[in-house]
Amino acid sequence: MQFNRRTFLGTSAAALTLSAPMLKAQGTPRVVVVGGGAGGATAARQIAQDSEGAIEVTLIEPSRTYYTCFFSNLYIGGFREMNSIAHNYATLASDYGINVVHDWATGVDRDARTVALAGGGAVPYDRLILSPGIDFVGGAVPGWDLSAQGKMPHAYKAGTQTALLKDQIEAMPQGGTYVMVAPPNPYRCPPGPYERVSMVAHVLKATNPTAKIIIADPKPNFSKQALFEEGWQKHYSGMIERIGPDFGGENTSVNPADMTVDIDGEVIQADVVNVIPAQKAGLICEAAGLTDGNWAPVVPATMQSRMDENIHILGDASQQGDMPKSGFSANSQAKVAAMAIRGALTGARVFPARFSNTCWSLIETNDGVKVGATYEATEEKIAKVDGFVSQTGEAPEVREATYEESIGWYEGITADMFG
Ligand SMILES: Cc1cc2nc3c(=O)[nH]c(=O)nc-3n(C[C@H](O)[C@H](O)[C@H](O)COP(=O)(O)OP(=O)(O)OC[C@H]3O[C@@H](n4cnc5c(N)ncnc54)[C@H](O)[C@@H]3O)c2cc1C
Repeated sequence: MQFNRRTFLGTSAAALTLSAPMLKAQGTPRVVVVGGGAGGATAARQIAQDSEGAIEVTLIEPSRTYYTCFFSNLYIGGFREMNSIAHNYATLASDYGINVVHDWATGVDRDARTVALAGGGAVPYDRLILSPGIDFVGGAVPGWDLSAQGKMPHAYKAGTQTALLKDQIEAMPQGGTYVMVAPPNPYRCPPGPYERVSMVAHVLKATNPTAKIIIADPKPNFSKQALFEEGWQKHYSGMIERIGPDFGGENTSVNPADMTVDIDGEVIQADVVNVIPAQKAGLICEAAGLTDGNWAPVVPATMQSRMDENIHILGDASQQGDMPKSGFSANSQAKVAAMAIRGALTGARVFPARFSNTCWSLIETNDGVKVGATYEATEEKIAKVDGFVSQTGEAPEVREATYEESIGWYEGITADMFG
């Protein structure tokens, strides 16, 4: 997809600081949401439900089926079927009256307040929500670009990529090698790569016990590290090797043509190479001129862009402060933005913003762990208030209960998104 900055960039950040005060829309106010994922679908449903027809909601999303990244690792591990992580937008349209448009948003005219569609035409808005998730930073892993994703999948957007990676793992020769190139911070789902390694190890332990898993990691440490390392030692001893930056893990390149990975000069012949590159806000944010570096800065109390008060940016794309880039975070931010938008457009009551997040990970059957926190909005950022994390050495019943809790959360968040 091509974005045209000149056509769609809209007004500059400097001009926007002088923009007119918020005006109440004439007639039925229109909210347009770009991206029907954890942030966008939640916000669209929340606004449509709570405004009871007082706000017209349009959701722009190219896919008819959304596969959640959350629980996609469990699909790789054989704990879920692909259809159990697939969702559609039918209920949002039929029961909530949301105008669902299956198309790409190609740009935003911030002066005219319209969103351009790849299929032609433009959708007008009074408030716009962008929740496009992530795109990859070009050149982040030398040798890899999107044209290599069919050979060296990232599986960091769920669906066909996830299925491809699972197929590749299952087709590995006995004693073969799986290499993951892990991303630098900040990225979508901090424990995600390490939960994935656990799930790959779970599959290989049963079907291919002499296989090797190598992680090339540019980060000195990672989310829930003590818990993962304890679990790997306990369940998958000798199978997983992580090469951090102290051993050259940040100096990694790949060669998709011959399926090799070069980690600080040591060339490894691999059977599966799972490249998860460095990430940035979904391209539409950049095309709309709302990014500063890789991410889109927002006002914490409302999730409004710091560059355009008529636009709210949710989830992974936003540069908000302390919250991790997770589905739970995006869902939590969506509720705050939905409340702020209803307040601005209809005068509905607005309460102080509170945010929360929990990230669960499965290490082995019934061995679930979690990390979470609550947050508040300060002038500067979404700031962590307090948090919790599973402990090493927990009893099996505690770990099983943690896993069960994650299943309940999945049902809850997907109902929140899709009705
Ligand atoms: C392997 C893995 C495991 C994970 N596990 C967890 C977990 O256990 N718990 C958790 O909370 N989070 C988890 N996450 C993270 C979670 O999936 C993301 O943080 C979350 O989906 C972010 O929501 P979002 O709305 O920002 O983006 P997304 O959910 O990715 O939604 C973005 C949507 O925008 C659409 N879009 C993009 N550009 C455009 C455009 N130009 N026009 C129209 N539509 C567009 C896309 O098609 C997509 O549907 C995991 C992620 C991965 C990769």
